[in-house]
Amino acid sequence: MVSPLPPIGLGTWENDDPAQCARSVRTAIELGYRHVDTAEHYGNESAVGDGIEEADAPRDELFLATKVHPISGGLTHDEVLDEADASMERLGVDYLDLLYVHWPVGEYEADETLGAFERLVEADRVRHIGVSNFDVDLLDEAREVLESPLFAHQVEMHPFLPQRELVEDAQRRDYTLVAYSPLARGEALTNATIRDIAEQYGTSPAQVCLAWVTSHENVVAIPKATSSAHLEDNLGAAALELDDEDVARIDDIERRTRFVERDGAPWQ
Ligand code: NAP
Repeated sequence: MVSPLPPIGLGTWENDDPAQCARSVRTAIELGYRHVDTAEHYGNESAVGDGIEEADAPRDELFLATKVHPISGGLTHDEVLDEADASMERLGVDYLDLLYVHWPVGEYEADETLGAFERLVEADRVRHIGVSNFDVDLLDEAREVLESPLFAHQVEMHPFLPQRELVEDAQRRDYTLVAYSPLARGEALTNATIRDIAEQYGTSPAQVCLAWVTSHENVVAIPKATSSAHLEDNLGAAALELDDEDVARIDDIERRTRFVERDGAPWQ
């Protein structure tokens, strides 16, 4: 399967100033972004909703994803239902294209938490179910309890954290891996190999990084960008195809760094 999502979507974590956040979302949609990623925990759903409204794109052309959080809202059955409603209210929409479990920690129980997700799908409030920051065992458990297909797993992935096992799982089980922090929070942009390849193609390090991420089947990226220059640069990565040997050079980068951590994360 090839992912039904566009290769490049928009991340919004730490795009905290409401006016700036709304402006970035509006600009992104006007430039052609169609997948917008937010979360209850980011505290910016209202601003994201404002940006969507200002961009005035038909709702059915947008793919809007948000997440329920173990601490901001809770992951019991009723908390999930309440949080999803509150997120939709803040975003100004009456359905979500994708709702994720943000982290499998705290009260996360596959049966109970994902049971609430199923109710939201039955009620036509959520189109697709996703999870985030899972490992292969938790993904297996999720797929076992779900009646609906698991649509996406959102996880940190960039040249310093290639996530080979999780990429293979997504390819084997036919769901999308949504790569978060695909620019390694900006740190990949100064890596010598990435810069060298960017020079060779006459493009930016960000495009090289994103083209490497999305060279993997079933993987899409959601770089966060604020300025229109960065937004445009990142979207342009969809048209960049790296030669196999350049993909291999990035595969060979030895540095391993995870930038996003939380107590109780499955990899700890
Ligand atoms: P990222 O996308 O890897 O990096 C963002 C940083 O790179 C920002 O400082 C941004 O600056 C800069 N940047 C963006 N495009 C650039 C370009 N073309 N040239 C130079 N610099 C550029 O990091 P991230 O925000 O951690 O990850 C992306 C998204 O993934 C988040 O926003 C969020 O939606 C999601 N995420 C999810 C989780 C989860 O637990 N599920 C965790 C982390 C992130 P400007 O803002 O100035 O443009």
